[in-house]
Amino acid sequence: MAPEIELVVRLQRVDDQIRALAEEIESLPREIEEIERSLQAHQRQLEKEQAELAANERQRRRLEGEIQLLEQKISKLKDQMFEVKTNEQYWALQHEVEYCQKKIREAEDQILVLMEQAETLEQNVRRARQELEQERRQAERRKQEAKERAEQDRIRLEQVKKERAQIVSALDPQLYALYERLRKRYHGWAVARGIDGRCEACHIIMRPQFYQDLRKAERVLACESCGRLLYYVPSEEGVDASVPQQA
Ligand SMILES: [Zn+2]
Repeated sequence: MAPEIELVVRLQRVDDQIRALAEEIESLPREIEEIERSLQAHQRQLEKEQAELAANERQRRRLEGEIQLLEQKISKLKDQMFEVKTNEQYWALQHEVEYCQKKIREAEDQILVLMEQAETLEQNVRRARQELEQERRQAERRKQEAKERAEQDRIRLEQVKKERAQIVSALDPQLYALYERLRKRYHGWAVARGIDGRCEACHIIMRPQFYQDLRKAERVLACESCGRLLYYVPSEEGVDASVPQQA
């Protein structure tokens, strides 16, 4: 294979790597954002469970306060019962005591219901807290991994860019200019394989003479249909055999 062909093939490969690395580097902040969003959703869930438990506790305290007031009232009513003059007054006070006692029983029943609910709510809070802690640990690990990968990608990108500069300096300037034009025109795909008598990019069947020239690999040939730079590959199975290997 002519050195020029090897160089453009290597250049295409290096540009593919640069693109893939740049895409990954760009995607990593989004990945971290997603991790953060999921964590915040779990944080909000925990806050919601905690708020429900707090509301339950407030309601219980309110009912306990009510019971205390009712008990004070009963005690006053009982004091008054000693001082009344008539049966009617006595029974009226007795009736009021019974009413207060009934109210106390109702409040106590409500407290029991609330206590049962509180047990479930406490379990929910405990579970939400455990899940959040677990996720926080995972999130930290994943964020760390993403950062490390981004760092490795950046280092690799610098290496690949240097390699690209070396290839470009060795390449005929006109051929490089052609490569760049093709790369822009075809969104990054400037160099294609000639395989089974076709250009793999535009699928045109090559003229036999052209294909013979391509097989000889003596100089860089451009596809007669799409214009991409071509290199010969014997067959689908033998792809790697004819591709110049990078050091
Ligand atoms: Zn073509």
